[in-house]
Amino acid sequence: MSDAQTIADQYRVSPDEWICIHPWSHLAITPKGGVRLCCHTQKAPDVGNLNENTVEEIFNGESMRRVRRQMLNNQVPKECGKCARIEDMNARSPRIREHTRLYSEKIRQDYIYKTKPDGTADYNLKYWDVRFSNVCNMACVMCSSEWSSMWIKHAKDYTESYDATTIDNDPNLNYFKSQYNDLGKTKIVNEPSFQWIDDYIDQVENIYFAGGEPMIMPSHWYILEKLHSAKRFNVKVKYNSNMLKLGHQGKHALDYWCDWNYGKLAVESSIDETGERAEWIRYGTEWQTVQQNIITVRDAGVKIQPIVSVAVYNIVRLPALLEELYDLFKHKIAINLVYNPEWRLELIDRSQRLALIDPLKKLEHLIADRNQMDIVYHKLKEPQVEVTDGGMKMLLPRLALLDTHRNKNSMQLFPELEQINQRMGGLYEQKRQQYE
Ligand code: SF4
Repeated sequence: MSDAQTIADQYRVSPDEWICIHPWSHLAITPKGGVRLCCHTQKAPDVGNLNENTVEEIFNGESMRRVRRQMLNNQVPKECGKCARIEDMNARSPRIREHTRLYSEKIRQDYIYKTKPDGTADYNLKYWDVRFSNVCNMACVMCSSEWSSMWIKHAKDYTESYDATTIDNDPNLNYFKSQYNDLGKTKIVNEPSFQWIDDYIDQVENIYFAGGEPMIMPSHWYILEKLHSAKRFNVKVKYNSNMLKLGHQGKHALDYWCDWNYGKLAVESSIDETGERAEWIRYGTEWQTVQQNIITVRDAGVKIQPIVSVAVYNIVRLPALLEELYDLFKHKIAINLVYNPEWRLELIDRSQRLALIDPLKKLEHLIADRNQMDIVYHKLKEPQVEVTDGGMKMLLPRLALLDTHRNKNSMQLFPELEQINQRMGGLYEQKRQQYE
């Protein structure tokens, strides 16, 4: 048993500083060309935009310098509230996880501790999180048009039959209308400038491809080709993919992936359910195809692991799902939490939630990151959510609208949600009548 009092002690992150290595070593790009400190700062403004500035301008621009000054003064930048909240629960935040990277100490000594008083610093872009485009072949329920081009189309389809007054008076329809209106603002970047890729490709040691769906993005194939032709098979590459496609425009992923050094390339598959429930949650997926693609990659000897986004629609089945996914992937399962108010797992009745703790504890050996399970346990124990809660009011109208246009019935597909519907006085049926 370690003497560590807190998770920060445990990972030897100095308690008198609040430093993250990202502002000196990480590039995170959004589909609009926005540059963020990392993917966890989604609610904060971007620190720059590659459509307007160069990487060099962004990495020593005012926002980045302010973030560095704050961190070096033991302050939490506004962008980093999520990590602070996770650490308050004494769980391992992404910030703390970053300190375990092999190059972390080098970044501290060669870059962080040499930062000038105004925050100007040299940097070394060792880790890229690239989401070049929101082009996607799915419209997953927890996603939005910012991250999925298919959502733009669906949001239009779901709202165009209602008149303006109906839409204005219904927050749910209004939400979908705003998703459609985002079309004008969302840049679907199919061909970003590749210059910075060429400039910094020699620095990179880690790449995370996400999207949208990286397997259908030309920019992803550009980088893969570049690394492959330079035989940089030791670059750690990780994908977040929905696994519906393994090829694009005559290229097939296995022709590249199989050359990577063992364990250096990993495919994280976003799988939250199986069968028909999967096809409802990740709309656009074809479970049979996805299942076969997982088996193909697994049997080719490429590391592939599931990542489950835990939410109101899969928490009750999570113990059974963990076993099914372990059988399919033969790999431990990563867990992620959905924080959208209308999808969060806490909406399930508290007694149902508490009943899941023991079954889940028995399956902890199947989980890749125990820390994430600690967050799940924390949520399972949270008090009963009141019917006046914003998320409770949003959940059933959201289900009703999706079901109306997809000709589904989520009360049958997810019977555990019926209890919420009863608490809300049959709101699901009321909204379906209104939307039909
Ligand atoms: S502290 Fe957390 S939110 Fe901020 S850059 Fe680091 S990992 Fe991202």
